[in-house]
Amino acid sequence: MPKIKDISSYKIVNSRGDWTLRTKATLDDGSVGIETVPDGASKGQHEVAYLPVDQALDRVNGKLKNLLAGKNPFDQKSIDALMVGADGTENKANLGGNSILSVSLAVAKAAANSRGQELYDYLYELYSGKKLQKKKLPLPTPLFNILNGGKHADNNLSFQEFMVIPAQGTPFDQAYEMGVEIYHALKQLLADMEVETDVGDEGGFAPAGFTADKALSVIRKAVGLKYKAGENVFFGMDTAAGSFFESDRYHIREENLVLTSEELSLYYERLMKKYELVYVEDPFYEADLEGWKKFTSRYNHRLIITADDLVVTNTAILKHAITEKLANAVIVKPNQIGTLTETFDFIHEAKDNNMFVVISHRSGDTAEDTFIADLSVAVGADFIKSGAPARGERVAKYNRLLEIFYLTM
Ligand code: PGA
Ligand code: ZN
Repeated sequence: MPKIKDISSYKIVNSRGDWTLRTKATLDDGSVGIETVPDGASKGQHEVAYLPVDQALDRVNGKLKNLLAGKNPFDQKSIDALMVGADGTENKANLGGNSILSVSLAVAKAAANSRGQELYDYLYELYSGKKLQKKKLPLPTPLFNILNGGKHADNNLSFQEFMVIPAQGTPFDQAYEMGVEIYHALKQLLADMEVETDVGDEGGFAPAGFTADKALSVIRKAVGLKYKAGENVFFGMDTAAGSFFESDRYHIREENLVLTSEELSLYYERLMKKYELVYVEDPFYEADLEGWKKFTSRYNHRLIITADDLVVTNTAILKHAITEKLANAVIVKPNQIGTLTETFDFIHEAKDNNMFVVISHRSGDTAEDTFIADLSVAVGADFIKSGAPARGERVAKYNRLLEIFYLTM
């Protein structure tokens, strides 16, 4: 049985021009796994701690390497438990969430390579404890974020992401094509309006002087050129409400609005009635539990209400959200929690409680890292978020899904 021989890390630059870790796990049979760590800009308060990159490198090249040398790379649970134990903090502040994540995922990739398995195939076994029988696997529905605001753009639009969503069940190749066509149609419409077509952190357009209404109506127009909104394409928003919550109120400055959570709820209701909105992520600030609870009890039956900053891929926090009925869907970002095992635990908990599962990239990401594409297939996620169908680090994940689509046809 191959053992871990070496773990080493160096730093590369991500899509936002920030340094990040690129960690390599080598087994004594020569197999290698390499993982590059993503990073967020609009983070939940309870995400694991990231160490400054140079410190994180020291942890990987020193403590973590010594801890894991000689260990069994196929025993992912023990690998992750060892690192969590050696860290000893609640939020991985000691060894670093970024250092630990890079090692956890690099080891899984090395193990998959050692067995000659595709990563999604190996992850499926780790997640389910079963061998993958059927060749044809359901792929997640992509959420294409084609218009950016909030902390991901400089355009004074309060809401962070406006998404187009192909109807669930659309084959992945067709869904991808829809995203690409709508993206180009939107670019043309913006140009016709003499609005700039610069893009935000996740590749969506970031026009100035827009409101949510204006964004949704132009996106709907772009969709309508070829598709039918409400039939084969739907709309979603990640409002990332924590980013416009201040002094107990929601400030939608581009409309001179200062709203209570009840008023924000009515604001969303108006948009839901006007557009074919089926998905809303982080509609309230993570500490506004009343806002979440009321909104979910009211719209649970007609809307996918997704918790991102609220639950941060943390199973203990998720359990509370389930008991309190705060949402009906969750974002999964492995780097919010720091290990593959804890990510799997979180997904099991969400699925056991009939929540939609949305696997997500981060706004600071790399084209080198496509782990989430394989993860989304392995766990049978409902959706994947990887930004716009443009920019290298965004399409790398969608392109890997297309590869898996052909591999599993
Ligand atoms: P982040 O945001 O990666 O910048 O934290 C993405 C999101 O809120 O979904
Ligand atoms: Zn989000």
